[in-house]
This record gives sequence, structure tokens and C-alpha cells, in this order.
Amino acid sequence: MHVMEIENNLGLTVCQKLPLVIERGEGVSVWDDQGNVYLDFTSGWGVTCLGHSHPAMLKAIQEQASKIMQNPNSGFTYSPARAALLKSLKDVLPDGLERTFFASSGAEANDAAIKLARKVTGRVKVVAIRESFHGRTLAALSMSGDVDNASRFLPYLPDHVFINRDDSHALYQVMSDEVAAVIIEPVQGEGGVQALSKKFVEDIRQLCDQHRALLIVDEVQTGFCRTGHFFAIDDYGVRPDILTMGKGIAGGLPFAAFSVTQQIASSIKLGDHGGTYCGNPLVCAVANAVLETLKTQQIAKHVDQLGQCAFNDLKVLADKFPELIAKVRGKGLMLALQLCSASQEHVWALTAACQAKGVLVIPTKGGVVRLLPPLNLSHAEWKEGLSRLEAALSDL
Ligand code: PMP
Repeated sequence: MHVMEIENNLGLTVCQKLPLVIERGEGVSVWDDQGNVYLDFTSGWGVTCLGHSHPAMLKAIQEQASKIMQNPNSGFTYSPARAALLKSLKDVLPDGLERTFFASSGAEANDAAIKLARKVTGRVKVVAIRESFHGRTLAALSMSGDVDNASRFLPYLPDHVFINRDDSHALYQVMSDEVAAVIIEPVQGEGGVQALSKKFVEDIRQLCDQHRALLIVDEVQTGFCRTGHFFAIDDYGVRPDILTMGKGIAGGLPFAAFSVTQQIASSIKLGDHGGTYCGNPLVCAVANAVLETLKTQQIAKHVDQLGQCAFNDLKVLADKFPELIAKVRGKGLMLALQLCSASQEHVWALTAACQAKGVLVIPTKGGVVRLLPPLNLSHAEWKEGLSRLEAALSDL
């Protein structure tokens, strides 16, 4: 049986599939089972931040796998790989975040953040932003402001309220001494690359301080240089109480983390949190290799510069196709084309046309096509992808 048939018949189909069987990848390129090569401008949904099969990651996998992959008694014992990552991470985390715990997915990290916020504040109410996405566990879904997802599995956790992006007036109305936490993505990813305004994020910080609520900043998609800063919140000059991370953190291996202030850490007691794979030495070693590469190659600066060039190029493209592209949004290498039509049919048509021209893009809700290329993308690779995107738009 063919790969697609097996997956369609034996796998649980929970999402629309593209007719594409990927066999291998190297750098920004991936190959399908027919030998066709594509530029991967999805980075596996923002994960493979250094492209595919990066030598530093391969070396870390080999070296750590030959030492140990999972500690005896897992988190009860210490690990040099985990310690090295904690040290390296401390250098790049926003000021005030002193303690970090590792997880396996972004949803899990956000779930833990809410759990801790409840413990620290003794409250349950969470304020979240419409069109946000925080993951697919019940707690993460409860605070995701995506109407589609939110209505399918009711009832959710109690006392979750949503306000519109940048609506400070609504924020003032919902904040009170009953709020445990406000959770934000500085730049909403699944919401179509929508950056929150600086003033709104500053207002959130101020009201959290006033009501002794926690500010949880979800950097699962924006973290690790994606927006041209090590963390997107660095650009806002606002201090998070809890920062959650995932995706790019280990460049392609399932991994996530959350970092908290010393004050929050001090109210966490033994047994409050845990997990079998938390701080698995193999993934920690790879994450450390990714982090060191991001630092030594000054990837944040590169992303900032290339991102500005890419944004301008996309605006020129939008001007060439005004009947197809309504707007371009982006920060660093987190880019989105807002199509004129809100129909998902058009989103999938452009995605398929791009695939036919040899560039892979992300079909996104709300009439949006996203580009999340690897962060070490070269200027020439960007231009090549851009010309394939233009060819796809011409075909439509
Ligand atoms: N938070 C954000 C901002 C995300 O973009 C995502 C995934 N798209 C998640 C959380 C959930 O991460 P995961 O799929 O690893 O659970």
C-alpha cells in the first residue's frame, strides 16, 4: 500500500492533508517520494528554525544518544545536558525570569502556566485575547480565542474571558482582583500574524501589577528569534511573569519550556508539576546546540534584516496582484499574506499552486497564507522562494 493510502486508512485523519509524501530534508529544501524538491517556507509550522538536518543538531543527537537518552528516574536525577541548556537559556531570557522547567509541547507548557497561576494567586479567572491560539489541551483550548475551536468541546474551564486585540477599554473593564492571569501572544501566529500594539501590552502589564495578576507571555511560535528578537516580548520592553516556549526551541524535536520569576518559583512545591519527558537529556542537548547556533550566528539580527527585505518584497508582490492579496503582515520571518477572499478554498488553492511551483507555505484560517521559513535562510533562497510564490500567484 502507498504511504498516503496507509495514512488515510489507518491513521486518524484530523486535518486536511496535502498530497505530498516528504522523505527527507536538508537546509531549506525537502524532497518528496517522487524526487521533487521544494523550498520549505513552513519550517514544520515554525519548528525547524535552522532548516533540516543542521550539522550542529546532528552532532548533538549523535553525541548525546551515544551517552544517554532518558535519565534513570527521569526528573528525580540530574543531567549535564539539562544543566548546560538551563545555563545557556538564562543568557537570553527576559530579565526577571529565573527558573525554567521543560515540557514536550507548547500546549503542555501553557497548561502548566495556568496551573501555576492558579496556585500562586489562588484565583481561577483568565483573560485571553480573541483570535489567539495556545494549544489543544483542554486548558489551552479554554484560553484560545479561536471561535471555531472554542465551541466544539464545551464546557471549558470556568471563568475564561476574551477581549479583542488592542482593546484597552475592554481590558480595563474585565480586570479585577479576581483575575489570576492574562495570557497573550505578542504576535498572534495562528490568528494570522497579528502583532499586539505596544500600548496594549503595556496596559496589560500595568493592570496585572495593579490587580496582582500574572502576565503569561506565550512565545511558543514567536520565541527563538522568529520575529527578529530573541523573544518577541523583548521588543515591547514589558516584563512577563511566565514565558512559555516551544517549536523552535529544539529545532525539530518535540520540546517546550516555561520560565518563571523567582517569586513564582518559590510558591511551587515538590510534586506540584512534573512529567516523564521533562528535561529529557537527548532533547536538551539538541536544544542547547540550537540555542548556541542562534547566538553565535547572530540569527536574531539576520532575521530582523532579512525580514524587513522580505516584507518589502511581499508588499511589491501584493501591489502586482491587488485582486488576490489584500494585505501583507509580518515581523521578522513570521510573514502573512491576507488574501482578498476570506474563503479557505482560495487559501488552499494558493497553497497547492505554491507546491506545484516548488515552495511550501502554510494555509491559515481567515483567508491567510503564512510563511515561516527557516531563520538561517539566505537572501538568495528568499528571492528564489519569492519568485516561486509569484509564479504561483500568476497561475491563479
Ligand atoms: N502557542 C502558540 C502561540 C502556538 O502557535 C502553538 C502551536 N501552533 C501552541 C501554543 C501549541 O503548541 P503545540 O502544538 O506544541 O502544543
